Amino acid sequence: MPAHQPVTVVGAGLGGLTLAAVLHRNGIEAVLCDADPSPDARPRGGMLDLREESGQTALRVAGLSEELRRIVRPGGEAMRVLDQHAGVRMEDGGDGDRPEVDPDDLRDLLLASLPPGAVRWGAEVTAAVPLDAGRYGVTLAGGESFTTDLLIGADGAWSKVRPLVSNAAPVYSGISFAETRLHDADARHPECAELVGNGVMFALAEEKGLIAQRDGRGRLHVYVALKTPAEWAASGAVDFTDTAAAKAALLEHFDGWDERLRALVAGADGPITPRPVHALPVGHRWPRLPGVTLVGDAAHLMSPLAGEGANLAMLDGAELASALAAHPGDPETALAVYEEALFPRSEAAAAESATSLVMCFRPDAPQGLLDLMAQYRAEYRAER
Ligand SMILES: Cc1cc2nc3c(=O)[nH]c(=O)nc-3n(C[C@H](O)[C@H](O)[C@H](O)COP(=O)(O)OP(=O)(O)OC[C@H]3O[C@@H](n4cnc5c(N)ncnc54)[C@H](O)[C@@H]3O)c2cc1C
Repeated sequence: MPAHQPVTVVGAGLGGLTLAAVLHRNGIEAVLCDADPSPDARPRGGMLDLREESGQTALRVAGLSEELRRIVRPGGEAMRVLDQHAGVRMEDGGDGDRPEVDPDDLRDLLLASLPPGAVRWGAEVTAAVPLDAGRYGVTLAGGESFTTDLLIGADGAWSKVRPLVSNAAPVYSGISFAETRLHDADARHPECAELVGNGVMFALAEEKGLIAQRDGRGRLHVYVALKTPAEWAASGAVDFTDTAAAKAALLEHFDGWDERLRALVAGADGPITPRPVHALPVGHRWPRLPGVTLVGDAAHLMSPLAGEGANLAMLDGAELASALAAHPGDPETALAVYEEALFPRSEAAAAESATSLVMCFRPDAPQGLLDLMAQYRAEYRAER
């Protein structure tokens, strides 16, 4: 790689890829470094519902609305809220304006819009330091280094770029997920498949839950959600290296729950992966600094329960790229324009996500989620 790069994006998640796609559409090429050895080195999470005002807008700006239509999973917007006895407390078929897509399909769609080799996989940034005149020095694992005029951190929760602009660090939310999957659900786990329905199912009670979602590949993604101390995932309380032992340890938390719900854990096909939920402080922002900014989780990591993180990461990427294209030769104005919209938008979403997390795991669960859904419906009706 040349010793100097005009524009460097660290992280090829949905935020970094959308940014690169819109830059490319505007004739601006960027170096895109990702630590993963290949695009599918790591399983992505469950299905995403793409919001009109964020994820769908970003794809429109990238010129990919037609392609989006091809990867939508029809009916995936459906939602069910259950209690621990599998009693259905709310059911909603969705209203058709939040298409559900598999994050792997979305990644492939964005990657296909870039020139071959646009992403440098296996390029982990280990250090980013300020140099003179708003330039930055970037070092990769293995020792390679280069300088850049514009450094964009799209490198997720534990961003290596964030410390250049802010001292903020993600804080543990008090909730940990354990993620697993049931493959070929209709054929191999028909009772679970029927219970989950066509979209997402929340079974909540006693300040914990089982959340399951059908994906576009016939699988059920299952998240066990528990209130735990921060060190729980690494404490050995659950041996995540032994799937059978992990299932047994997790199921102890669900004694007395309906057997069809317990089967979502007991019948899991794959490994069980702990995912402690962290968030940056609500309202995280930083002073304008020359030549550097953040997009996506690097800027505003939030709990997943409002379903905003990926949507916002994509919108951030599209807006930043559009601002750079609109201010050729003047990246400082572009970054200022981008951040002026970014900060209030992400503050509002982070506050909503934090509230959703508390509401979902209230002692009277699932009532908090039912209240939230009623509120969203009322707001939605008022907007129409
Ligand atoms: C359980 C769960 C469910 C979720 N559900 C939803 C949902 O329904 N809807 C929604 O909108 N959002 C959801 N989210 C949130 C969403 O997944 C994230 O907000 C989104 O992936 C953020 O995208 P990003 O591009 O900012 O970061 P990431 O997706 O984290 O991508 C960052 C990239 O940077 C790379 N990287 C990291 N460090 C380095 C480094 N040092 N050098 C080079 N590369 C690096 C990583 O390999 C990665 O590819 C969910 C999250 C979780 C955990």
